[in-house]
This record gives sequence, C-alpha cells and structure tokens, in this order.
Amino acid sequence: MILKKTRMIRVGSILIGGGEPVAIQSMTATKTADVKSTAETCQRLADAGASIVRIAVDSKHDADALREIRKLTNANLSVDLQENYKLVELVAPHVDKIRYNPGHLHHAEPQTSWRDKVKFIVQVAQDNDCAIRIGVNCGSLDPNLLREFESVKVKNIDLMIRSAIEHAEFIDTLNFTRYCVSIKSSDPETVIVSNRRFSELRPEIPLHLGVTEAGLLPEGVIKSRAAIEPLLADGIGDTMRVSLTVPNNRKEEEIIAGKLILDNVKKGEIFSGTWKQSALNIVSCPSCARVENDRFVTLAEQIYAQTRPIKDYPLTIAVMGCRVNGPGETDNADFGVWCGIKSVNLKQKGTIIGTFSYEEIVPKLLELINKGNF
Ligand code: SF4
Repeated sequence: MILKKTRMIRVGSILIGGGEPVAIQSMTATKTADVKSTAETCQRLADAGASIVRIAVDSKHDADALREIRKLTNANLSVDLQENYKLVELVAPHVDKIRYNPGHLHHAEPQTSWRDKVKFIVQVAQDNDCAIRIGVNCGSLDPNLLREFESVKVKNIDLMIRSAIEHAEFIDTLNFTRYCVSIKSSDPETVIVSNRRFSELRPEIPLHLGVTEAGLLPEGVIKSRAAIEPLLADGIGDTMRVSLTVPNNRKEEEIIAGKLILDNVKKGEIFSGTWKQSALNIVSCPSCARVENDRFVTLAEQIYAQTRPIKDYPLTIAVMGCRVNGPGETDNADFGVWCGIKSVNLKQKGTIIGTFSYEEIVPKLLELINKGNF
C-alpha cells in the first residue's frame, strides 16, 4: 500500500501521516465517569491493536474522570468535544489528541465567533502537547454554512469540504500544523468523493477515514470497506475508524474490521463496485459515552431483525443513541429514532411522530412502515 506523503503528526506514542502505517482507531461507549469500565475498555482496545482510543466528554465530571482514566491505561487517548468547547482546558492535560466538530462550535456561547473558539482550542492543544482533528460530519454541518447556502442548494459534499478547508486555513494562520481532518458521512460514496476532493485541495493534511454510523454487522463492515478500501488503494488516508453498532464487550470488532480492510488493500482485494442503497438501509450509530440508555444496541438489533421481511425495500431507518446528535442525524432518513433516558423519539421524514417507551417503539415503527404512506 503506497500512501500519499502527507504531513506527519505525532499523537502520543504514534505517528500519523508521512507514509507511516495506517493507524486504526476506536472509541469507548461506557459512561466516561465510570472510570474503571472506561479505562478497561481503553486498554482492551489498545491491546487489540487500536493506536488511538477516543472518549467523549460532556461535563466537568467526565473531565475529572479522564484524569483517573489516564493513570490506568497506556492507550493513546483522544477526546471528543461537543458544544462545550471550554472543557478542552480541563481534558487536554490527560489526552494526546483533541477532536472538535466545526458544526458543534456554534451552539454554546453564540456571541463568540467560531474562530475565537478554535483559537482557544489550538492554544490549549499547543500548551498540552496535543494533536487536533477537525472532524466534519455530514449529519451535523456548520449551521452558518447551511444558512448561507440554503437558497442556492449547494450539496452537502461541497459544504463539508468547504467547512474542512475553512477550518484548516484558519488553523494554518495560527501556525499550528499538528492536525488532521476527517470528512464523514453514512453514505460510502459521499465519503469517497469528499475525501478525494479534499486530498486534491490539501494533499499535505493527514486524513482520518471512516463511514459514520456504519451500523450493525454485516452491513457496517461492508459500508466501511466500500468507502475506505478504494481510498487507501488510491493512497488516501492515514488513520481510520470502522464505526460499528456492537455492545461494549465486542468493541474489538472495530479493530478486527480495520485490520481486515488493511489486509484487503495490501492483497489488492479492494471492494469492487459502489455501495448503493437499493434496499433497506439501517443507519445506526456506534454509541459512545453520550448514549442515553444501555438498551440502545439491543434496540438497533431488534429493529434490524424485525425489518428483515422488508429487507429488499428501499427505505432508510436511522437509529441513534442520544438526543445530542439524534435529531440532526435522523433528518434525511425515512424513519428516525433516537434514545432518551426513559423513552425513544420517533420521526418520519423529518416530522416528529412522538415519544414512545422502549417496549412500544418497535411495534410503532413497524405499524408506520406497514401503512406504507411515505
Ligand atoms: S449519536 Fe449520540 S450516542 Fe450515538 S455515537 Fe453519536 S454522540 Fe454517541
């Protein structure tokens, strides 16, 4: 596998880019405040071959937990920031990399510009020897860009690339070079096109590849192969994550799938053709510390199993684990469900249908599908 020569960046004990072997990553789905379980998961994933393990933090409580987790594992740690960008100050001393999503920087402190927020994050990264990932996601695009281009109907691919370029250019002005970029979507073809174009525009920036919400097995691995293998075969990609909807005790399967992809590319056995939705497509998140109820993975599995009779029907059902990303990530699906603590929200073609208990939600979803009026 001959990779394009991107800039090399260090993340803890490993190097990304510059022709180094592709680093496989994963993420914890335990509650971050549960120090013991989270640290154990980090170590298990590192032992299975994860070069970097990502952890979500949403509160000071999580940040405090991270300090303890750091003491219990030698995994290279990355932290996933959401709206509360200021938390970066508390977590950076305990991690090796900071991931921020340009689309999430607009919600907290709307009076502060995104540039000032990024400046703050970069300064903290610099002070704490951390790398950064600009993580652009199709389901949570920068709301300012969406508003700006609403009337001219610019495609999401263009907006994702624009957002990544805009942030990269701004970070360049701060003379910070230790960053990589990811442009993810749940659609493999979108991942291929957007990463190819970004790589042409900024060939020196290391790329983190992945299909977001690739979902349950076996489709989760098939979609990831369909996107990542052709890119790696073109020499594009320096690190990757295969996001699978699996329970905590099976998280290693993300690493196994990552190794499979690398092996396939090395042997020239690249996924052929394109992955196109011709049948039922269940998009489900891999869950993370933000998941609102541990029943999420079981719920996704139930929806998968109970929709097998219509598996050839062209329909998209999105199943998300939390209310932070659930409402946005289900926007483009025919049906979307996202977990709350005690109940599950249901949406049909962007319109809220209601909130149902964990027992009611699957029958309700099937009832609406069976009505067929969508
Ligand atoms: S949708 Fe929520 S629970 Fe699922 S991976 Fe994203 S942030 Fe985590």
